[in-house]
Amino acid sequence: MGWEEIGNNVLVLRGEKGSPNTGIVVANGIAFVIDPGMGDRAKKIHEKITTMGIARRFAILTHAHVDHMAACKGFERVFAHRWETILAESATCRNVCEFNVVDPKGFKFITADSVPVTDEIWWGDEIFGIVAGDTHGHTPGHTAFTYKEFVFAGDAIFGDRLLERVRIPFHTDVFEAMQSLDVLEKLVHDGKTIVPGHGSIVSGEEAIALVQKNREAIQRMLEDLWQVLETPGTLEEITIRLMEQYGLKTDLEFVLLDTTPIRSILWHWRSEGKVRATVAKEGIVWDKAK
Ligand SMILES: [Zn+2]
Ligand SMILES: [Zn+2]
Repeated sequence: MGWEEIGNNVLVLRGEKGSPNTGIVVANGIAFVIDPGMGDRAKKIHEKITTMGIARRFAILTHAHVDHMAACKGFERVFAHRWETILAESATCRNVCEFNVVDPKGFKFITADSVPVTDEIWWGDEIFGIVAGDTHGHTPGHTAFTYKEFVFAGDAIFGDRLLERVRIPFHTDVFEAMQSLDVLEKLVHDGKTIVPGHGSIVSGEEAIALVQKNREAIQRMLEDLWQVLETPGTLEEITIRLMEQYGLKTDLEFVLLDTTPIRSILWHWRSEGKVRATVAKEGIVWDKAK
């Protein structure tokens, strides 16, 4: 799939081979590339901008996951939220935040070294008409970028195919991610079109339905996790049980990835007094508070 002009001076390169949807917004004679992606996309993106006769090109990151930023090369400036900047520039911070691993050598997931950010931004900032919106939860500083009627939503919302495949949607903080779905829903009600990181571009009722699907996926995971907790276990045990219930591959990297959202849920429930964490011989054991 190639480039699609979705609006005046707004283009999208559809996600492929693990890369997300990449947006290009042309404003002030500058091409702003939202989430360059990974692999050979840097070349594709720069060729496209050159054919458009534009010399200046800036990159904007919704968040610092490798699939969204590994191809962040050849840009005059790179913009990211302050808390994503840390993750973009420090592979250690990024890997700890994502998997709780310092050196994930040999992992099946692609990795990236430092991606330098030139411009740290904050929610509410505006970059030549492109507005940074708070949609954290998927990552601590996740940001959706609104330009005219389009919202480049990154991984604050997933397409339905991805949702069905992963079953345990990755969010550093699942409950904060739920709140960000409310933010996106409001934007849809305001007439905005959602360009998700992965999946089809949606607006109107279709977009509302996608927000709802994302909510339901999280809700289902919460209910199933609550069932799984009938038998106490460590974070890893509980995660693996849920993954097996969903028929997911329990390879080391996937277990580590899935423990991150599960951990966020367990600690949140603990703060509400719903579950307990007890230190035992086998590790920190989680069970329902009696
Ligand atoms: Zn992501
Ligand atoms: Zn992604």
